[in-house]
Amino acid sequence: MTASADSTSPDLALAGAIFDVQRCAFHDGPGLRTTVFLKGCPLRCAWCHNPESWSRIPPEAAPAFRERRATVGELMAIVRKDRHYYDASGGGLTLSGGEPARQPRFAAGLLRAARAEGIRTALDTCGCAPPSAFALLAPHVNLFLWDYKATDTAGAPSLHRELTGRDPGPLLDNFRRLYAGGADILLRCPLIPTINDTPAHLEAIAGFARDYPRLAGIEIIPYHAGGLSKYDRLGLPRPALKTRQPDERTKARWLEFFQARNLPGITLA
Ligand code: SF4
Repeated sequence: MTASADSTSPDLALAGAIFDVQRCAFHDGPGLRTTVFLKGCPLRCAWCHNPESWSRIPPEAAPAFRERRATVGELMAIVRKDRHYYDASGGGLTLSGGEPARQPRFAAGLLRAARAEGIRTALDTCGCAPPSAFALLAPHVNLFLWDYKATDTAGAPSLHRELTGRDPGPLLDNFRRLYAGGADILLRCPLIPTINDTPAHLEAIAGFARDYPRLAGIEIIPYHAGGLSKYDRLGLPRPALKTRQPDERTKARWLEFFQARNLPGITLA
């Protein structure tokens, strides 16, 4: 995925639906970044911290949670303000959501505009979009931040479907296709105590490290309960997860699992 793919003129009038822009973000890829949050998500993760990304927000919700339209040109006027931070820190533009690949033309247009100005790009994705969307996006993405959320056990009901609302197969197919095509991918694995930190899931994460040695890394993202108040402000019921934030012992146990398999490249975010 090289910068030369972005040589044509970007369409600055291209518009899409967003719900937030955050400058100086440092959890959304390398360095300091500007993160644009695109509206809409086909998943309903049981621990979602961004329910305002879902398409159906009650009309009585606070204005801050409502969808708004923005053009590539308007967003680039914000993104380029911090380019000296990107240059100094190895950062850039991240598209997140929601699921940015559900607005592929707009997302690709914004990524392409950033790359045309020499700004590196990342796409934070759950992988739930048609293969054609990823084919459109891939030439404009320096780094995919790929969420891997749950692992099914043969013969048992799908845990992935139970926790996210979707079967994992098409998402994993998209991952494999992009990896085979040479994309740089950082795997990110939210771990929620007693919910998805099953031996099968930890073993599957270890399997990614073995089977995909060209991954940019694997990050374990410990569950945190921040964002629950958003549900109250949106008038939505809070997630009925029976869990807690992982304590230090739990996090150490996760890491020991990978270290015992000689996989030190799997780290805590
Ligand atoms: S993929 Fe992300 S935004 Fe969508 S429901 Fe899951 S956690 Fe929320």
